[in-house]
Amino acid sequence: MTYEYKLQPTTEQIATIEQTLDVCRLVWNFALRQRKDWCGSRKSPVNACSIHSEYIISADEPFPNYHKQAKQLTEAKKIYPSLKLVHSQVLQQTLRTLDRAWDDMKARGFGFPRFKNKYRMRSFVFPQLGKDPIRNDAIKFPKLGWVRWRQSRPIPEGFEIKQARIVRKASGYFVALSLQLNIDVPNPLPHGHPRGLDLGFDFFVATSDGSEIKRPRFLKILQRKLKLLQRRLKNKQKGSNNRHALNQKIARLHQRISDTRKDWHFKLSHHLVKDAGMIFVEDINFVSWQRGILSSSSADAGFGQFVNILEWVCWKTDTYFAKVDKDGTSQICPNCGAHTGKKTLDVRIHHCHECQYTTTRDVAASQEVRNRGLSKVASAEFSSAACDDRALGHSVLENVCGLVATGSIGHDTLVGTGRSRKLAS
Ligand SMILES: [Zn+2]
Repeated sequence: MTYEYKLQPTTEQIATIEQTLDVCRLVWNFALRQRKDWCGSRKSPVNACSIHSEYIISADEPFPNYHKQAKQLTEAKKIYPSLKLVHSQVLQQTLRTLDRAWDDMKARGFGFPRFKNKYRMRSFVFPQLGKDPIRNDAIKFPKLGWVRWRQSRPIPEGFEIKQARIVRKASGYFVALSLQLNIDVPNPLPHGHPRGLDLGFDFFVATSDGSEIKRPRFLKILQRKLKLLQRRLKNKQKGSNNRHALNQKIARLHQRISDTRKDWHFKLSHHLVKDAGMIFVEDINFVSWQRGILSSSSADAGFGQFVNILEWVCWKTDTYFAKVDKDGTSQICPNCGAHTGKKTLDVRIHHCHECQYTTTRDVAASQEVRNRGLSKVASAEFSSAACDDRALGHSVLENVCGLVATGSIGHDTLVGTGRSRKLAS
């Protein structure tokens, strides 16, 4: 778990934190440049030159990976005393973060790691703290000493502090503590009432139980305020004090919006898992989804963060969580499984010509998500039930049949559809 606390550093400690950020930034930029140069030196095609000049790096020179760069860092310390001002593990962690960003770019299609100016470098990590680092009113960091903090909530008993990240935000300095408890917590098993969710633009989320939840007005109001301030930025001269002050104001508002949104995501998640034993959502790559045609309206929606928080809340409340195939959830009738054809975005009502089932588009989609989730659970559990544990399979059968009671899906029709054939077998 990660708990965040506000720090109240002295002026001297602030200077040390800023200096640490500065050194981390230099190390980051140097290491990134090294990686980029290595790649650049190898990418010129045989029949053409690069438009820019590239360093010539010998062909047998290995790629500057984490281990190589960490070793170089140790040597660089002998030449550059400023590197010694910062705790060595903090700098190693910076290199490790770069290494991870690099891997994410390659493996998961994330963006290219960026060079950082002093506004972009906002945090650094102590991979471990010393012995007994916590007092009621202060926390001890290497090189910084005791820093006063507001312990807004106690650290849960038995948890061990694994690492500490110091973050600079518009409203001050914070520490994010990663807490770890060394026990195995079993993942929640499918049980109880199933609930499918459909995330969308009209409503933030629709549930298979028929409720539709709008995104809150206060976020919209804050968003509008932000736009206003950003527009004012144009009239300010670059580098002027006025511009700097306005930028500070914008940064504080940005933070307020993201704090408010996160808080609401937590509250909504807790609301959604109430009385449910299983939660199903569509498996959507939100990054590319939000970049798509609907980018402007969903820029502030934060679906990706919401799903992560929801998964976490489910885990904490022993609610089963699963993602299901997203394709065509709005084209299938959740009541009878009939294909109702493609709906354009302006069609807000689901009406099935086969069974006359009528509901709103988003609720229908969420019910289809629930159906898919249930059949996924059923097929997974039946295959495991076939091995040894018949009792597990039973509970799911009861769940699926229990749907009859909700009235939204008929038992006969369920057995008739393709997805439940596995059930019958
Ligand atoms: Zn139907």
